[in-house]
Amino acid sequence: MSPDHNDFSVPPWPRSAASVERAMRDNAWQLGQRIEQLERERADLRRILRGLGEGVLAVDRAGIVVHANPAAIAMLGLDADSCLGSHMYVAVPHPEACDALELVLRRDEHAPRLERELTIEGEDGQPLQLAVAVRSLRPAGASDDAEPEGAIAVVTDVTELRRLEAARRDFFTNVSHELKTPITVIRGALETIADDPDMPREVLEKFVGGANRHALRLSALVTDLLALARLQHDPDALRSEPVDVRAIAADVIDTAGIASRTAEVALEIEADADVEPILGDEEAIRQALSNLIDNAIAHSDAGSVVRVRLRVSGAFLEVEVLDVGAGISGEHLERVFERFYRVDSDRARSRGGTGIGLSIVKHVAQAHGGSVSVESAPGEGSRFTLRLPRSARG
Ligand code: ADP
Repeated sequence: MSPDHNDFSVPPWPRSAASVERAMRDNAWQLGQRIEQLERERADLRRILRGLGEGVLAVDRAGIVVHANPAAIAMLGLDADSCLGSHMYVAVPHPEACDALELVLRRDEHAPRLERELTIEGEDGQPLQLAVAVRSLRPAGASDDAEPEGAIAVVTDVTELRRLEAARRDFFTNVSHELKTPITVIRGALETIADDPDMPREVLEKFVGGANRHALRLSALVTDLLALARLQHDPDALRSEPVDVRAIAADVIDTAGIASRTAEVALEIEADADVEPILGDEEAIRQALSNLIDNAIAHSDAGSVVRVRLRVSGAFLEVEVLDVGAGISGEHLERVFERFYRVDSDRARSRGGTGIGLSIVKHVAQAHGGSVSVESAPGEGSRFTLRLPRSARG
């Protein structure tokens, strides 16, 4: 190798002592610069690793932990003071993760990388789902079958992702199930009518009536699903305009008049004098109130009263819908706002309930920066409270 190509080489002879000394000083200065640069790069790298949301754990060829960033320490439950320098099987309390590192170090799987998913207990005692991707560490440019210098595990918390995947699966199963029932009934009715052209009129009317009821249910379901999709996926598309909630409540009560008369349930509305219009989406708020009031009527006994009260409470306008009907028992109470959750499925379905009404109320409240809650006792009735911010949407 020619000495001219080496940054730190001694220059060729002949040279004076002074020029040799100058060259050595230059080399020392360059070396100092390189060391400073490397240290800067190391500090940058450490900063990046410290700030990463993913956990990074590195071990050397013997399985000794040589690096663990704060995310890895938190997610894997490592001891920050003692993990560095310890063997991974001692430092990492999850043998599956260590086995993956070991396999990569030993090249047992003939692959320089492995993926594993662990379910561990999180700090709050809740299960935590961790995806662990293990790669071998090799000198730059080395081939895949070169002896690894160590291995690195990148740990990602996929708990929320898996929860969303499961919720999506459940949602599709529920939707398919909910759509299938009315479609089956309508098809059955149509086939029976087609097979029997001489069917007596009253039997025919029974089949047509049944098909019609299920077509209405199908239509209600699709309308509710579209409303829910709009609220969930595009809450920003909601309008922010002055909404007179008192007038809307009165309007919803008017519209609910027929249902309440049929059920022999009286409807009353009272509003405090300081209730003023708020900023929000009129259609969404109308739908939320309508769902709450329709439910209250549907679960009330004949001769009882459903009360709607509007009052100001700090920064919120509270709309309370109170009935003295069937009530909801404790084990169902916290689940009634879930999509498709029904306390008494058969009764709810037979009265045309989609099981999505309260979920829509919850999303309307949240999209406005508010909330909805319920207090109830079986046999005593229920009090649903919708809280909407009085000023700008949150
Ligand atoms: P549905 O379309 O079945 O009414 P919702 O989401 O509106 O669906 O309500 C979910 C469940 O909560 C209902 O099936 C019903 O069992 C219960 N529920 C809702 N409102 C009331 C109420 N005011 N009184 C008693 N139970 C209620």
